[in-house]
Amino acid sequence: MPVRRIFCVGRNYAAHAREMGMDDRDPPFFFTKPADAVVDGGETIPYPPGTENLAYEAELVAVIGTGGRDIAVEDSLDHVWGYALGNDLTRRDIQILARDQGRPWDMGKGFDNSAVIGPVHPVADVGHPSEGYIRLSVNGDQRQDGNLNEMIWKPQEVISILSKLLVLRPGDLVMTGTPAGVGMLTPGDVCVIEIEGLGEMTTTIGTSDR
Ligand code: MN
Repeated sequence: MPVRRIFCVGRNYAAHAREMGMDDRDPPFFFTKPADAVVDGGETIPYPPGTENLAYEAELVAVIGTGGRDIAVEDSLDHVWGYALGNDLTRRDIQILARDQGRPWDMGKGFDNSAVIGPVHPVADVGHPSEGYIRLSVNGDQRQDGNLNEMIWKPQEVISILSKLLVLRPGDLVMTGTPAGVGMLTPGDVCVIEIEGLGEMTTTIGTSDR
């Protein structure tokens, strides 16, 4: 199933919302990445141009298998085919400047190789992860250590809300937000993400390719 669209939820863990200087009670908001920003887990990706602050964000990714519109919360998990590990790579300096100037986030969030996605585990094998660790380490040092049960808006709520804003289609990915502890990656770093029940995913940051 080809990746169709990539929808990302902003600030979906309270401690991360606070570390970004925001309230944790706001309704969810969304941004997108282009489908060809996807890169598989396990790859070495070149350090992206135009930034001095490349940030990691460990995330649970829900893969939509059955489309729909106006999906009720109690039905929305039936539309999920599987789950994957994700890294919402972010040019934080560009994103923060855009945020503070009221400009779009595209160049901070939607650049080449910015959506690192691991293998998709079918719901038939892993169920619907709702609690369990979500962790990220850089060169062996743990940087993020959250729990899926800390999400402000649960995947079933996120999918329902999204389906009231547009028609969801098979192959759409939903990146469900990151826990606290975000920080920088530099060339040579090895970044490992783990989610309970979904294994782990390693990304190596190479040097700039330009
Ligand atoms: Mn994110």
